[in-house]
Amino acid sequence: MRKTMLFLAAMMLLVPMAVVHTQAPPQATQVVNGAVAPALRNPPTTLDIYSIDTEGGKATLYVSPTGQTLLFDTGTGGDNNRDADRLTDLIKMVAVEPQLDHVIVSHYHGDHVGNAAELTKRFPVRHFYDHGAWTVEGQTNRRTGFDSYLPARATAHAMVPKPGTKIPVTGFDFTVVSNAGELITSPVPGMTGAGAPNPLCREFVPRVQDATPENADALGAVVKYGNFRLVDLADLIWNMEKELVCPNNLLGTVDAYFTSRHGTDWAGNPVMVHAIRPRVAIMNNSPRKGGTPETFRIVKSSPGLLDFWQIHYSENVSKETNSPEPFIANMDATPTSHKAYYIKLSARTDGSFSITNERTGFTKNYPAAAKAATPSASASASKQ
Ligand SMILES: [Zn+2]
Ligand SMILES: [Zn+2]
Repeated sequence: MRKTMLFLAAMMLLVPMAVVHTQAPPQATQVVNGAVAPALRNPPTTLDIYSIDTEGGKATLYVSPTGQTLLFDTGTGGDNNRDADRLTDLIKMVAVEPQLDHVIVSHYHGDHVGNAAELTKRFPVRHFYDHGAWTVEGQTNRRTGFDSYLPARATAHAMVPKPGTKIPVTGFDFTVVSNAGELITSPVPGMTGAGAPNPLCREFVPRVQDATPENADALGAVVKYGNFRLVDLADLIWNMEKELVCPNNLLGTVDAYFTSRHGTDWAGNPVMVHAIRPRVAIMNNSPRKGGTPETFRIVKSSPGLLDFWQIHYSENVSKETNSPEPFIANMDATPTSHKAYYIKLSARTDGSFSITNERTGFTKNYPAAAKAATPSASASASKQ
């Protein structure tokens, strides 16, 4: 009897030790219902950036090599949680832990703020970043998304980052270049060629803005991961984009440009696009929103552009103007209820990257950019 007791006592000591031993390797952990458990998976060895189909909205998920997540906009709310479910499925599939470390709400239009509140019901959201107060717009129905976000914002320690500051995400640099109507006034450190004069500025044609002042408050950013560079200005407006690159190009040159305002004619001005000289562009359009003839003209004529990737086939232009099908994630014309596919960009620190079309599995590899000449010299040499 006593031996049995001793044996049991010894076993009770050993069992927890065995458990501790199996958990001891440097495996990431997560908290599930208050208990610590191994994380779902190891972090990627690349910086993975998913452009999610939100039917002409914006939602871009970053998964960093340190295992953090950063979501840049949340798609459109409602519609039986169409976009919230798409985001949830992807986060569960690729995030190291089922949580959102950083959520950026670029501005309060429904196609960007739409699921900010809904996502807080589904995942822990560690930090929100936005532009602060609502900007009064003409159309009253435009406030719906913002109102739905307000309760979540109140408990979320939301921050309003100034242009020039970095979001404290780990594993890569995410620098704010526009927010709340303000812009950076000096070159972004570390961006290739940033600060060089931009000879294209004299060609700038200003545009009368449509009545959507929220867009002028949008949070825009540049991303740097080793030698890889990306620009994403959300819905920032045409005339303000120019201020970022004139008279000097404060953004520098980039590998990837995520088209401003869904590839509509209200943003993506050529003085900015051609100055940052993207090697690829990715457009968050829908069948009928964005993807306009002028956007195709501006992007395709950008010096050094290799490929124009599209979230959707655009019905605003001909088949010949659309990119070849392998470069288009979603071919459907119906904007709801189709299975949605993402475009995934995986960046490496040497500046090389690959892009994958989830629908077809097609992947294209892009080698690191050659160490370029000064942007001013090369831009004027290839102005066509
Ligand atoms: Zn938008
Ligand atoms: Zn907008």
